[in-house]
Amino acid sequence: MREAIAAKGVTVKQGDTRIMAVCGKCGAQNKVSAPKGVSRVTYACKECGVEQMAM
Ligand SMILES: [Zn+2]
Repeated sequence: MREAIAAKGVTVKQGDTRIMAVCGKCGAQNKVSAPKGVSRVTYACKECGVEQMAM
């Protein structure tokens, strides 16, 4: 099955975690993907650009 997935060019890595992070400044929801095993990831808010940490 790994070969089939690679052949289709799917870019989403299995094991990545998708986080819906709510910006602490403007309240916008940001989709953040984090590698498996990482509990905290920094991201910049798509609305106001503030860098912050999502857990
Ligand atoms: Zn924001």
